[in-house]
Amino acid sequence: MTGAKTFTESVFDVVGQPYRLPMWTIDGATEGPTLVVTAGVHAAEYASIAAALDLGRSLDPQHLRGRVIVVPVMSLASFTARSIYVNPLDGKNLNRVFPGVPDGSASQQLAHWVFQNVIARADYYIDLHGGDLIEALVPFTIFFRSGNAKTDDASLDVARAFGLPYIVSSETPGATFSAASKAGIPAIIAEAGGQGIWTPEDVGQLASGVQRVLRHLKMIDGTTPAAVPTRVLEQFLWLRSDHNGFWYPRVEVGAEVRKGQDLGQVMDYEGRALQHAISPADGRVLFIVTSLAINAADPLLAVGA
Ligand SMILES: [Zn+2]
Repeated sequence: MTGAKTFTESVFDVVGQPYRLPMWTIDGATEGPTLVVTAGVHAAEYASIAAALDLGRSLDPQHLRGRVIVVPVMSLASFTARSIYVNPLDGKNLNRVFPGVPDGSASQQLAHWVFQNVIARADYYIDLHGGDLIEALVPFTIFFRSGNAKTDDASLDVARAFGLPYIVSSETPGATFSAASKAGIPAIIAEAGGQGIWTPEDVGQLASGVQRVLRHLKMIDGTTPAAVPTRVLEQFLWLRSDHNGFWYPRVEVGAEVRKGQDLGQVMDYEGRALQHAISPADGRVLFIVTSLAINAADPLLAVGA
C-alpha cells in the first residue's frame, strides 16, 4: 500500500434523483483494518459533523495502518434543510431504516447504498451523533448486543476505547450501529454536543475519541489509551410526548433520577398538565428536549439505567 488521501463526492440515484455523498478515503502507507466513520445521519447534530470534518482533514495517510473512510454528512438533504430528526425527502428518521431497502423511500434507498458501499467495507464502524437542534445531552456511546459474542465484545472494547463517561446498550431497530453489528461488524454510536452549537470541547471529545480508537486498533502510533472510568448502562429508556403542547422539564440533562420521579410536564395551550414524564427507573438523564414546543410522539428525554 502507498499512503493516499482522496476526497470524492459519490453520486448515485435516490428515488430517481442524483444524490451526492461527500467522503474521504484515507489509505495508510501500510496494511491494517478498515475503520468507517460517519456523521450527519442526523444532520443538525453539528458537533459530530465538525468532528468528522476535522478527522477527514487531519488524518495523515503516511502515519496510518489500514484505511479510514470518513463520511462527514450522510444526509445532505437534511443538512441543507436544517431538519431535525427526519430526512425531508420522505419524513423518515434515517437512523431507523438501516440496512435500507433498494427500492424503498428516499431514506431507505440512501441507507441501502451507504450500507452496501461504505459500511459493509468496515472492519470497525463508528457513527458520530449528538443532541439534535432541540436536545441537550451528556456524552455517551451506544452499542448493540447482537448475540454474536465476538462482535459484541469488540463493540464494547471500541466503546471503552472511545472514552466517553457512559456506555449504553441499546436495541434501536434500524439504527446504523445495530444493522452493522447484526452483519458482524463491531460498531458504536458516539454522542456529544447538542442544541445546534458545536463547542470546541464537544467537537474535541468526539475527535479525540476516534483518535483513541485508532490507537486501540493499532492503526496509528501511540500507546493504547488509558482506560477512562465508564459506566455501562443496560437500559436506554425513552419517554415520549402523547400530546401537542408545551414541554416543561423539571430536571437538567445529566441529572441522577429515581424511579417514579416527576421529570417534567406536557401542558396544553392553556397551561394545564396533560402528561407527567415519570422516570421508569433509577438512572441518569442522558438527553433531554429543550424546546418549549412539543408534538405528540416526540421524545421528551431518555434515562440510562
Ligand atoms: Zn442522532
